[in-house]
Amino acid sequence: MSPKKVTIIGSGNWGSAIARIVGNTTKSFPDQFDPQVRMYVYEEIVNGEKLSEVINTRHENIKYLPGKILPENVVAVTDLVESCEGSNILIFVVPHQFVKGLCEKLVGKIPADTQAISLIKGVSTGGIERGGLKLISEEIKEILKIEVSVLMGANLAPEVANDNFCEATIGCKRKAEDGPLLKKLFHTDNFRINVVEDAHTVELCGALKNVVACAAGFTDGLGYGDNTKAAVIRLGLMETTKFVEHYYPGSNLETFFESCGIADLITTCYGGRNRKVCEAFVKTGKTLAEVEKELLNGQSAQGPLTAEEVYLMMKKTGLDAKFPLFTAVHKICAGEMKPAELVDCLRNHPEHM
Ligand code: NAD
Ligand code: 13P
Repeated sequence: MSPKKVTIIGSGNWGSAIARIVGNTTKSFPDQFDPQVRMYVYEEIVNGEKLSEVINTRHENIKYLPGKILPENVVAVTDLVESCEGSNILIFVVPHQFVKGLCEKLVGKIPADTQAISLIKGVSTGGIERGGLKLISEEIKEILKIEVSVLMGANLAPEVANDNFCEATIGCKRKAEDGPLLKKLFHTDNFRINVVEDAHTVELCGALKNVVACAAGFTDGLGYGDNTKAAVIRLGLMETTKFVEHYYPGSNLETFFESCGIADLITTCYGGRNRKVCEAFVKTGKTLAEVEKELLNGQSAQGPLTAEEVYLMMKKTGLDAKFPLFTAVHKICAGEMKPAELVDCLRNHPEHM
């Protein structure tokens, strides 16, 4: 077996943190991986310099992960098709609103035996019209006709980039076939991987925790304490399990106890960007777009968009009443409900009836 070439599609906060891991693991296993890792960079000018050139000369993503050096074998490429040419493993890690457009540019350019793994937390808009659900992994698979696994977990990128210990979950439908190599690509002393087969549960936990984190941000903004946040996390977890069960009956309950489940909910509800943006939204009265721009410097909070997508999908089939927390997050983000009403919604949650 010749060494596999790896491309990272995305170079934001998480894309850059994961490039530090993958740049090193590929070097450590030269029999399995080609040591040159290409990273697709959506080009922009930062302080008068091209971001891709800064990455290739100073090995730092000065905009999305400043202060952290990327391994020199990670090479920034601004042409998407060129970045993927000849690659055997594609790591998708862009904000979910961009994935469809990027995949469409790759149609016909990716051999059928290419493997993909999505680190993207969000859902596709592709299922909304029929009230069905389409995962980001399903969208990639549908467009590119390749197998797609997922990696989700309690992984705030700045902490991962600091090499602080954490865990992550890989969901692989073909666990025996694809799991071992993917684990090798990501597993390190400080980034511990568990592989499970229940990939749709892994992915939905990753997407929906961003919605729950918005609720945690709202209660923080309203001045409630940790007990309220714990209730948000618990009720959010209950809605997540019901949502997964509705769309994928027979999912494995144990998956919710992996890093992708309860652990990611906790870390995001305390330390994530979605929480931060939603807290500021309540405290300042500014729009979500304004606070995102002011606080995140080009990074993206995926929760409000995911809440809207999930809400539209549920509304189509009358499911919205069964998921009051998810529904309230969307309505608050859309200005259809006051943040203070969230606590009434928690008080009257079906879990208490
Ligand atoms: P980010 O929030 O830093 O987003 C900015 C990225 O979007 C930049 O690379 C920018 O170049 C790119 N971009 C902007 N406009 C674009 C366009 N038109 N087309 C293509 N790309 C464009 O990104 P991130 O933090 O790497 O997040 C990517 C995914 O990873 C998200 O789904 C997120 O939920 C998930 N994730 C993030 C973290 C984290 O802590 N940051 C952790 C785990 C998972
Ligand atoms: P935020 O996007 O809210 O920062 O969450 C990052 C994350 O997914 C941590 O696991």
